[in-house]
Amino acid sequence: MSQVEFPTFQTVLYDEPRPGVARVTLNRPEKRNAQNMQMTYDINSAFDHAVRQPHVKVIVLAAVGQHFSSGHDLSGDGSKTWKDFPVLGTWANFDQPGAEGLYAREMEIYLEMTERWRNISKLLIAQVQGKCVTGGLMLAWCCDLIVASDDAQFICTSGKMGGSGIEYYAYPWEISPRQAKMWLLTGELSVEKAQQYGMVNDVVPRADLEQHTLELAERLTKHTSWTLNMTKSQVNHAQDAQGRRSSMQYAFAVHQLGHAHRKLTVGANVDPDTLPENIRQHYLRRIERAAE
Ligand code: ZN
Repeated sequence: MSQVEFPTFQTVLYDEPRPGVARVTLNRPEKRNAQNMQMTYDINSAFDHAVRQPHVKVIVLAAVGQHFSSGHDLSGDGSKTWKDFPVLGTWANFDQPGAEGLYAREMEIYLEMTERWRNISKLLIAQVQGKCVTGGLMLAWCCDLIVASDDAQFICTSGKMGGSGIEYYAYPWEISPRQAKMWLLTGELSVEKAQQYGMVNDVVPRADLEQHTLELAERLTKHTSWTLNMTKSQVNHAQDAQGRRSSMQYAFAVHQLGHAHRKLTVGANVDPDTLPENIRQHYLRRIERAAE
């Protein structure tokens, strides 16, 4: 294995720790693995690389550090803009004012990119430790299996921010509708409940997380690539036949309406100083970004 040269990426690591198993590791521990645009495109490129390797059957999505991911990085990518990254989908007009630009951008990098990862032709296993927050949920959800450590927490801050869920709205497809409502409104889901509700496959002690995940991945490589790909495809299609995609398109539209609603109410009619601190900071960042 030591002679093999793996591709390098700025924000993720790529290796093949077991025969037939590729691993993509989020590597921004100083930012609790917040997903900026660079990371989004790095994950996509690393997955693409793994998919193109005939010997790779299973891909593990892991994360360096204490926490899996703190969600989308709202502080952006420094001086980089969307023009510094490839356009992979069908969306454009990211610079348009009003709701148009943000709608197109979030459709491209959040909804469609995450959907693409969900449907790639190799089995994906998420290896989750510590906190998995809001946008970070999308990274776990796009995987076929989720293994978590006993200290994992699945947190959704969207409600606290005045929203109603994230762009890739998988909540009622991951757990039951009634449990999803409770989670969205209370914000927290313990790893015990996540497993009990069917969102997480295995929960293991933190010290055993990596080994357990890699052993599972290696065990699954004993299947043919056909069995692995068709198993995920058939189960995914069962959800799609129940209307998953169209309900997620509706939720995405509501999410965008939520962005516009906040801009209208906060931007025109509300004094930000009257808002709770966490919401105020969130609004100010968004207003700043909109003004750029
Ligand atoms: Zn959004």
